[in-house]
Amino acid sequence: MKKLFCIAAVVYALLAQPLLSESRIDRVNPAGLASVQDDLTLNPSESFRDIALIVTENFETDNTKRDLLLNAVDSIGGHVYLVYPPNVMVGRVPSALHGQLGRTLGIKFVTNAPISAREVDVRNPNALDGLHFFNWVASGEKIREDESVKGIPFPPLKEFVGNAWEQTKPFSSLPGLKLVPMHHTAFPNDVMDGLVKVDVMYVESNGSIDANQYTWTVTDHNRVANWTSAGFYWWVEIANLLGIQPALTYIMHFNAGSAWQQQQGYEPITRNGLDDFLWMNPILANHGFATGDKFQRVRAFNQNRRIAAGAKNGFSAWVVYNPPGAPATHSDGWYAFAWYGDYVKMNFQNNGYALEQYPRIFAHEMGHVFWACDEYAPQCATNCSNCYTVGPRPASMNWNCEYCTPGGPTSCLMHSLTDYNWINHSTCEHTRRQMGWPY
Ligand SMILES: [Zn+2]
Repeated sequence: MKKLFCIAAVVYALLAQPLLSESRIDRVNPAGLASVQDDLTLNPSESFRDIALIVTENFETDNTKRDLLLNAVDSIGGHVYLVYPPNVMVGRVPSALHGQLGRTLGIKFVTNAPISAREVDVRNPNALDGLHFFNWVASGEKIREDESVKGIPFPPLKEFVGNAWEQTKPFSSLPGLKLVPMHHTAFPNDVMDGLVKVDVMYVESNGSIDANQYTWTVTDHNRVANWTSAGFYWWVEIANLLGIQPALTYIMHFNAGSAWQQQQGYEPITRNGLDDFLWMNPILANHGFATGDKFQRVRAFNQNRRIAAGAKNGFSAWVVYNPPGAPATHSDGWYAFAWYGDYVKMNFQNNGYALEQYPRIFAHEMGHVFWACDEYAPQCATNCSNCYTVGPRPASMNWNCEYCTPGGPTSCLMHSLTDYNWINHSTCEHTRRQMGWPY
């Protein structure tokens, strides 16, 4: 292991790239209202720069040990973006810093180049999902995939974005669901910062109610793990370069369709999307959350997983499997949607979008979990008001709503899923403020 580390360090020292401190965020000033001019885009050449795989000692459920490892990476000027327990991390670590990290207790290996699981002895399926994501990016495959769908037309977004907090009591008053004191408001995921625990829930059918028509393949499991990770990475890249504190890091848990807990009687794509309680309720019961309706269960689940991980924020992302040949939407026409503060729902294929456009749809839906508003018509309000009245920042305005920008909205993923917005990490100031970021 040590020998591998040294070889990797020498090779990457030779290919030394500029350090993080030289990274920059380009400010663009398109025509439009003064109030919407402060949008940010990231130079595409910065994207995934210095992406590194870090293999650590097993930290399992030892959050203190994990946090020491995270701090060690921060202390040398790197940052872990994504954690894949029990022993893999992916983030930004320039090759020149590998030597310092290599001497850190508990860190076994760090590289900027693709590597096989065998070489670094990674065996846990969740950790392997992380290693595969790293290899997918570091090999250039991810960029090639984005290129392959460049210019491909896609339908306008048609999402359901719900706010279940309008009907329920504040989170902190629900029995057994106290928020940790770190929270800013009475709502979960009110600021996209700090440690965020995410459970990606692959939904699988077992034929006991509907005919079992579609079963997750390993290949498509891996694709969704990559695409989901790309969505998380997209936001951390922006937060990290903006210097958002506490620093944003996602802790991932991929709940594979092959696990018995993910299996239930319905074939979801043949049902109404908004009837997702049909499959969520039994799956959540399998995980030990069998009381109450869909929201009570999913909130209890999210909360439980978040606290176990010692994280500030936490949500789940539910993925329905509809491979090519299956309908691209549910029978009610819905495909990707989100509930503010609670969860994201995705299909494997989403209503006429290319499969490879999944990451940008997912990143957009994630924005909603952190209370960002849609900026496209007719989804955003004509009076430019916020998209909710019950939530962490009801007074914040949605100035980049396309009804409110005579010169056209500034570029932002919450406005549209264009190649430009995805590749350039476009976010407008109003989206960032809606997510609780100060700028
Ligand atoms: Zn949306």
